[in-house]
Amino acid sequence: MKKLSTDVLIIGSGGAGLRAVIEARRRGVNVLLVSKSKLGLANCTATAGGVFRVSRGKKDIAKHFQETLEAGRFLNNPVMVRTLVTNAWNAVKEMKKLGIELLVEKGKVSITSNRPPAGVSLSNALSKHASELGVNFSEKTAVFDLLVEDGRCVGALAFQKDAREIITISAKSTVLATGGYSRLYVRNDNPPRITGDGLALAFEAGAKLQDLEFVQFQPMFTDDGVPRMPILDWLTEATKNLVLGGPLIGKKGERFLDKYGLMENKIFRDNLTVSIEQELYGEHENSVVFDLTQLSSKEIIDALNYDYQRRLVLPLCQILSEKRLHVASFAHYTMGGVKINEKCETKIQSLYAVGEVTSGIHGANRVGGNALTEIMVFGTIAGQQAAEHAKHVKSIALNKEHIKSSVERLQEFCDKSKTKRVQPFQIKAEVSAVVSRFCKPVRNEKGLKYALDELRQIEEKASFMFADNPDQLQEIIEANSMLLLAKLVVNSALTRKESRGAHFRVDYPKSDNTNWLRNIVISQENGKTKIRYEHLTRKQKR
Ligand SMILES: Cc1cc2nc3c(=O)[nH]c(=O)nc-3n(C[C@H](O)[C@H](O)[C@H](O)COP(=O)(O)OP(=O)(O)OC[C@H]3O[C@@H](n4cnc5c(N)ncnc54)[C@H](O)[C@@H]3O)c2cc1C
Repeated sequence: MKKLSTDVLIIGSGGAGLRAVIEARRRGVNVLLVSKSKLGLANCTATAGGVFRVSRGKKDIAKHFQETLEAGRFLNNPVMVRTLVTNAWNAVKEMKKLGIELLVEKGKVSITSNRPPAGVSLSNALSKHASELGVNFSEKTAVFDLLVEDGRCVGALAFQKDAREIITISAKSTVLATGGYSRLYVRNDNPPRITGDGLALAFEAGAKLQDLEFVQFQPMFTDDGVPRMPILDWLTEATKNLVLGGPLIGKKGERFLDKYGLMENKIFRDNLTVSIEQELYGEHENSVVFDLTQLSSKEIIDALNYDYQRRLVLPLCQILSEKRLHVASFAHYTMGGVKINEKCETKIQSLYAVGEVTSGIHGANRVGGNALTEIMVFGTIAGQQAAEHAKHVKSIALNKEHIKSSVERLQEFCDKSKTKRVQPFQIKAEVSAVVSRFCKPVRNEKGLKYALDELRQIEEKASFMFADNPDQLQEIIEANSMLLLAKLVVNSALTRKESRGAHFRVDYPKSDNTNWLRNIVISQENGKTKIRYEHLTRKQKR
């Protein structure tokens, strides 16, 4: 078994991991970045549209703060939101330093590059700078266990696919930057490897997870040849008063925005998705119709408020003015994640987390653009904190027994004497089918309980998973993460007996601020899953 040692270990090479790597390296410590994908690619950052919500000046910052809390239905951690909004402009300055071309508009900044696409140009700029700073990389390397000794994280175990070997990494600080869990859903717009591994790793290591029931779905076009882009919230908001009853048409041909109060209230991602999903609830159809054919392409473009929106809609506006299109919701972003504070610290000493793997900033629903701002702002903080912490750690000792049993557990999946063999992709497919059917944005107790039963059965089958090549071993790591996380997500959705943000309970259709203005926190104690409620007033003390 190969052994590596570093001051700071960063897991994940999306924007959050890369930004953290740069900041840690600037502080003069050794940094190792491991990632399942190739450096900076095949992750959400590389697929992102490149739009940042930023604010500058007292009034704008106050507005950004308020908007983030309102969109998050007040479940956000206000200290983290304050950190986000006050440091947002620094993220812009940093990107300018890296040579990224930006369009600055009121409250929004967008990357103007089309080739390579915006997200790739951000990833490339960060990766290039990290390489220049002398960061060590290990690509196609999947972490499958965090090593914790006496409540302190001392590194990780990983599987390197090309070399087909397991690596023990000892580290003075470890940063999880592994992205979210939208791949739990069949319909999603995330790259294939975004399977929530970081949340599963943190949970098993003893960290707290929070707000898992909040998954941001985005309505997107489903017609062949029409790009799937997360633009329908602001496109619908901008055009709703130009078309009688708004552009969305449900069953029986009714225009339905008014039915859900969306003609008079501002459209956010959560209320638009929930209204679409309510239209489809219990029906056989799986999409509604989007109709802007009464408008010319010029009228559509003129309705938009920002240049970045016009740039994204321009290639679509002709088809929008000629054809009715179909729309369904896709899992896009996950608000739930590892509970951290404004310093990116988790409950476990020496373990930090940053980016979409975390929870706290966005509450029950995220404002568009805040995720990229988050990875730049909190990536900086995570890198600083991890590096400064590592400077004070004198030595670390690894627990050989723990490593041995963890490696053996993984190797059991390669045991050729197994008579019954289940393919890991089958487990992944079954898990996502259950979650997609019973834990979509509109859910109820009966369905969620049924989902838990189904997941228990899949779990039994999962013990027969078999890997006869390195690709499959990585699939097994992901299938295990998905299975664990699916149970936790469904349990959280079952626990929250109200409707808020991206979570709509048919059996509890109203928001209940008296009882539910609190986070659902899940952790593991002595091998048992514990669910707690943490009130907003206490959350900063953590
Ligand atoms: C289509 C799309 C468009 C978007 N557009 C915008 C936008 O315009 N503005 C905005 O604010 N937000 C946008 N978002 C959201 C935003 O892009 C993401 O929230 C953000 O990029 C997440 O960054 P991250 O670094 O936390 O995770 P990611 O970029 O997803 O990176 C996660 C990394 O972790 C690695 N990893 C995972 N598990 C393991 C493991 N076990 N071992 C090792 N490595 C692992 C992965 O390989 C990957 O490198 C968009 C999202 C999508 C999907």
